[in-house]
Amino acid sequence: MRASKTATPEVHLNLNVRGLPVSATLAINELSNRLRREGRRVYRLGLGQSPFPVPQPVVEELKANAHQKDYLPVLGLHELREAVSDYYCRTQGLSREPDGVMIGPGSKELMFLVQLVYYGDLVIPTPSWVSYAPQAHIIGRQIRWLPTREAEGWKITPAAVEMICREDPQRPRLIILNYPNNPSGATYLVEELKALALVARKYRVLLLSDEIYGELNHKGVHVSIARYYPEGTIISSGLSKWCGAGGWRLGTFVFPRSLYWLRDAMAAVASETFTSTSAPIQYAAVRAFQGGMEIERYLWQSRRILRALGRWCYHHLMEAGIHAVEPKGAFYLFVNFEAYRPRLAERGIFSSEQLCRQLLEDTGVAILPGRAFGRPAEELTARLAYVDFDGSRALAAAEQVPSTTTLDEAFLRTYCHNVLEAIELMGQWAAR
Ligand code: GLU
Repeated sequence: MRASKTATPEVHLNLNVRGLPVSATLAINELSNRLRREGRRVYRLGLGQSPFPVPQPVVEELKANAHQKDYLPVLGLHELREAVSDYYCRTQGLSREPDGVMIGPGSKELMFLVQLVYYGDLVIPTPSWVSYAPQAHIIGRQIRWLPTREAEGWKITPAAVEMICREDPQRPRLIILNYPNNPSGATYLVEELKALALVARKYRVLLLSDEIYGELNHKGVHVSIARYYPEGTIISSGLSKWCGAGGWRLGTFVFPRSLYWLRDAMAAVASETFTSTSAPIQYAAVRAFQGGMEIERYLWQSRRILRALGRWCYHHLMEAGIHAVEPKGAFYLFVNFEAYRPRLAERGIFSSEQLCRQLLEDTGVAILPGRAFGRPAEELTARLAYVDFDGSRALAAAEQVPSTTTLDEAFLRTYCHNVLEAIELMGQWAAR
C-alpha cells in the first residue's frame, strides 16, 4: 500500500484493549480538576486518595535520599524488604522472610503482574475495586464474579466461593480479597476470615489479600487472612493509603516460601518492564515501615478522624433514605439510591452512570457509579470517598482534642466541611 503524506497508521489495537477507557478513579479526578479550573464548585468524593500528608519523618527521609540515583534490585532495596518483613512480624505475628517481599511501583502494577504470570481465572466480588477486572480483561483472563449481598455488608461468603470452586475443583483460580474494603468500607471478622481460609485451602486457590487499607481499620485492629491460610496467601499493600503517599507509587507484595516460584516469575517480567522502583522512594519507605511513636500517633489520629467522619456520613445518608453499610475502615461508602428509584426515574435516571452524571451536574458532588465496581448498570449504587478535606489541618486540630473524646459534629463541620456539605447535598438532591 502506498502511504500518502497525511496518512496515519491504521488502527490495529490489541483486541483486549480496544474501547478500554481510562480507569474510572483517574477519569473522575481529572474531570473534577477540569471543572474546578473552569470555576465550578466541585466536591471531590470521586478518587480515593488519602487526605492526610505523608508523615514528617518519612518526608525527611525522602529529602535525605534525593541523591540516590542507582537502579535498585528488581525485587527491591534489601533494607526495605527487611523493614516490610519486620513490619508483618510486628503487626501480624507473621514470619515472612525479607526474601518473600517484592517492591513495585504501586501495588496496582504488582497486581497486574501477578495476573499476567499466573494462569487461572480471576475470582472477585461484585462490588470490587475498579481495576481488578480491567486488568484481567487486558491480559485475557476469565473473570468470575462472586455475588454478595448488601445485607451482608457486600462481603464474600465461603458459600459463594465454594459454589464457584465446586464446578471444577482442579481449575487454577486467583481470588482477590480486599479489606477494609474499597468500595464498601466493610471489613471481616476473624471468624469470617477463618472460614474463607478453609475453602481457599480446600480448593488450593491462590489468594491475593489486598490489605492496602489495613492500617486504616478505624479501630486499628486489622487481622491478615495470611495467618489462617499462610501457604496460599500473598499480602498486598503499599504506602498509598495509610501513609498518604499515593503519588509516590510504592507497593508491596509479601509471599510465603511456597509461592516463591510466582515471585520469581513476576521478577522476571518486572525486570523486562519497569526494572525497579524509584530509589529515593524506596529509601524513604524504609522509615515508614519501621514505624515508631510519631507514625503510630499519626495513624491513631487518622483513624480517629476517619471513624468519626465515616459514621457521620453513614448516619446522615441513612436518615436521608440513601442506604450504606456502616464503615469499619478505609474512607469509602457504597451508597444505594434504590429507595428513590421512582422519583429518579421521573427525572430520567435509570442507571448508576446517569445518576452520577446528573448529581455532578446539579450539585457539583463527584462520586463513582456502581457499574465501575462491577454492579449491574441499572442498579442505583455508587461509591463515595469521604476525603475532600485538608488532612494536615484536621490532624493538627485533632491533636488538641483529648484522646478520650470522640470528634463531634462541630469538629467535622470545621475541618471536613466539604464532605458534610456534599453528603447533605446528596440527600436533598435525591429527595427533590
Ligand atoms: N484506589 C483509589 C480508588 O479506588 C485510587 C487509585 C487508583 O485507582 O489507581 O479510588
